[in-house]
Amino acid sequence: MTAKILDGKAFAATIREKVAAHVSALKDKGIHPGLAVVLVGEDPASEVYVRNKGIATREVGMASFEHKLPADVSEADLYALIDRLNADPAVNGILVQFPVPDHLSERDIVARIDPAKDVDGLSVINAGLLASGQNAMVSCTPLGCLMLLRDTLGSLSGLDAVVIGRSNLVGKPMAQLLLRDSCTVTIAHSRTKDLAATVRRADIVVAAVGRAQMVPGDWIKPGATVIDVGINRIPAPERGEGKTRLVGDVDFDTAKEVAGAITPVPGGVGPLTIACLLANTVTAACRVNGLPEPEGLTA
Ligand code: NDP
Repeated sequence: MTAKILDGKAFAATIREKVAAHVSALKDKGIHPGLAVVLVGEDPASEVYVRNKGIATREVGMASFEHKLPADVSEADLYALIDRLNADPAVNGILVQFPVPDHLSERDIVARIDPAKDVDGLSVINAGLLASGQNAMVSCTPLGCLMLLRDTLGSLSGLDAVVIGRSNLVGKPMAQLLLRDSCTVTIAHSRTKDLAATVRRADIVVAAVGRAQMVPGDWIKPGATVIDVGINRIPAPERGEGKTRLVGDVDFDTAKEVAGAITPVPGGVGPLTIACLLANTVTAACRVNGLPEPEGLTA
């Protein structure tokens, strides 16, 4: 069997189209959704992410507010900005780009953001809402994976799912989402005794570890759907001296011969994250205005 390759770029484009349609409908009601992104310091990679988020936000018709603070900004000044954004009705979503300089605490920053505007879904309030089956802001990458799984498989009810990785950012919310869609969920991690046997039972495998090609094809149940969240850079001497390439946590070449469907790296899960950030901002705008949840954009 050769797996269907799940095209994350194309799927992200469909999410962005839905977002743009919802934004347009909100504007007809006099509501103009907006996303604020805060960048502390001058990390070049973070500057690129922030620029790309701004472009994507404007492309779907939302307002984009970018705030750049110096690397030595005091905690008090950063919190004063977050407080202003929390109080600003034009801002529906707030994202502080991580990592931040060492004198600042990511956990405290997330806690300072109004949970209703925490479009990254990182706060303990949103984690608790998700775990208790209430309307949460859901971390963008797992939300994108869930949307892609639903699009690929339809109902997930009753399927055996394994999530490899238990981070607050990806693994745990992913497992909660799959449970909510009535999968039987196993969460594997670095202490899991027989990972191969655990993965072999799964109809759905979500790999979120950060170890290049650690899941070989012979761990995959024939026909399973494989979502590879991992992003790893490995040497690629075939491309020239000192060159590298990106690979996932799954050994794509062997896994695609067994799986029913699989995401590539790059071009699989990666593009979904920003699309879901936009989706969450629209969701936040609907909720704060007492409107129904935007169809197709929530968990
Ligand atoms: P973390 O480092 O926070 O978590 C990694 C998890 O993998 C941990 O729970 C760890 O277990 C587990 N793990 C480590 N080694 C093994 C092993 N040998 N067997 C089984 N489990 C293991 O990473 P993140 O969750 O933040 O990210 C995971 C990957 O996803 C990274 O490659 C990251 O770059 C990528 N990523 C991609 C995104 C995208 O947009 N595509 C977005 C976010 C992340 P333990 O808890 O026991 O230590």
